[in-house]
Amino acid sequence: MSNNEKRFPLSLSAVVDQRGRQGKISTAMPQTAVKNAANNQQHTQGVRALGNRLAQDIPVPMKPVMPGVGMVSDKFRQAMVSRVAQQGVKDPLVLSALQAIQRHLFVESGLASQAYIDASLPIGHHQTISQPYIVARMAEILRNGKSLNKILEIGTGCGYQAAVLSLVAKEVYSIERIKALHELAKTNLRPMRIANIRLHYGDGMLGLPQVAPFDGIILAAAGLEVPNALLSQLTIGGRLIAPVGGRHQVLQLIERLGQHEWKSTVLEQCHFVPLHQGVI
Ligand code: SAH
Repeated sequence: MSNNEKRFPLSLSAVVDQRGRQGKISTAMPQTAVKNAANNQQHTQGVRALGNRLAQDIPVPMKPVMPGVGMVSDKFRQAMVSRVAQQGVKDPLVLSALQAIQRHLFVESGLASQAYIDASLPIGHHQTISQPYIVARMAEILRNGKSLNKILEIGTGCGYQAAVLSLVAKEVYSIERIKALHELAKTNLRPMRIANIRLHYGDGMLGLPQVAPFDGIILAAAGLEVPNALLSQLTIGGRLIAPVGGRHQVLQLIERLGQHEWKSTVLEQCHFVPLHQGVI
């Protein structure tokens, strides 16, 4: 594995929007990002309607309206977080991380107005930024109400989930197999100056044996099974969460109970891009 470790000697506060700080298993609907992008009209109207309601509740001074600007504001992120909470995510640390990270900065500017819709969106190279609900859900399951030290994400993509995870774990390692996306994530994360993310370019199916063991491993792409290399890189008591399957996928939680003992639980349906071997 090529090992282009990059460090971000950076302060957390820079990525956290200071103004914005402050169980149940549900089913994520399978969807494709391209479809989301193409059929966004209704969603956009829904978010606008929500924005109008918020605008009625909060008196604000009249300002000239810049097209698209309101769509990336704190209010829209707050509405997104509320929807994620309504879908069953309860962990306050995860919800505040979702509120803090500005998702619109991880998609191209033409899609920024759709960033706070609960949907995956295209990021190029046939890959997607994950749906906010599933990012939150997986982080909640991984954390299980405890503090996380060192975690590993397979499939950095544009870096959004890594940024969210950086607020729920002490150290986040993330691997991406597509060089151009590894570079995109670096570009997206650099200005945010997040000190506890390490990005690697390589095949995540091999994990990061030189850094293991991890308290938590999260896969952002679906394989037909979870690679054994990753199971062996969990601490005892550690948790791995992964989408598993082809056309029909489920979220699978694997807990390492002992040196040679793992327990697997199937949670809910999901839809992710496929996990592939090797690098490009
Ligand atoms: N974490 C992302 C979602 C990324 S999409 C977010 O922030 O929303 C899934 C990513 O997994 C894609 O970028 C894809 O290239 C990557 N991927 C697939 N197989 C992989 C592998 N074996 N190793 C590393 N990355 C992989």
